[in-house]
Amino acid sequence: LLKDKVALVTGSTSGIGLAIARALAAEGARVMLNGFGDRAEIQVIQDELTKLNGDCAGYSDADLSNPEAIDAMVATCTDELGSPSILVNNAGIQFVSPIEDFPTEKWDAILAVNLSAVFHTTRLCLPSMRQRGWGRIINTASAHSVVASPNKAPYVAAKHGVAGFTKAVALEAARDGVTVNCISPGYVWTPLVENQIPDTMKARGLTREQVMNDVLLAAQPTKRFVEPIEVASLALYLCRPEAGSITGANLSMDGGWTAA
Ligand code: NAD
Repeated sequence: LLKDKVALVTGSTSGIGLAIARALAAEGARVMLNGFGDRAEIQVIQDELTKLNGDCAGYSDADLSNPEAIDAMVATCTDELGSPSILVNNAGIQFVSPIEDFPTEKWDAILAVNLSAVFHTTRLCLPSMRQRGWGRIINTASAHSVVASPNKAPYVAAKHGVAGFTKAVALEAARDGVTVNCISPGYVWTPLVENQIPDTMKARGLTREQVMNDVLLAAQPTKRFVEPIEVASLALYLCRPEAGSITGANLSMDGGWTAA
């Protein structure tokens, strides 16, 4: 399906992004990985992707809170693999705290990685997609792009921002063969979710089990975490030719959370 296509997937050394990178590589895309982590472990992922499609997989350690590093990442991808015709803006960070105690540097970091980075990668990658007359921009938003939870104001603000940004760029690119969408998962079992359990325990005075069942899955009617592979399957579907009319959409995959 994606032979000869280049996919840049941010935040793909872990969780949802890694599942998306694997799914795209399995369909033949040359994937540029990005994210933090142990270099040797990332090399194992690169080797795995290379085996999946017999082509090369690249890696950029760009810190997406730094616009210059984003520039360099897109340039490296273009030099090493080709200009991306699939851009998956997936990197994201979370921090949980009541607003009056929220560290201002955490606000800056969450807005930079979860929202501003999406602007920078998009403005850099869209021109070559337009030139080619084909492109897919897929943003990992969140159920928090539609509804809110307490103690997550910066994350909720950034994700609502991603949903609005997605709609605006979809309109601008609508005649160019480029679709722009977001996928909005509910709780997916990844390190991002696991790592916020201790802070939520502290903020609300709850046990680990109470946080999992009464806080995280409280809002998810299916009472199970979404699997990263489910999100990856939807991302892959958006790359299919028959998904060409899906643009400007915010696709929920939240076990019914935002239906309630
Ligand atoms: P994760 O923590 O497993 O992975 C995050 C990835 O982003 C990692 O590869 C990490 O290295 C990378 N990253 C973090 N900061 C970065 C930075 N400054 N520069 C470059 N890369 C950086 O998280 P995940 O759960 O897989 O989340 C992926 C996306 O899905 C995020 O945007 C998150 O907000 C969103 N999301 C997650 C859930 C969930 O329940 N896990 C739900 C809804 C939305």
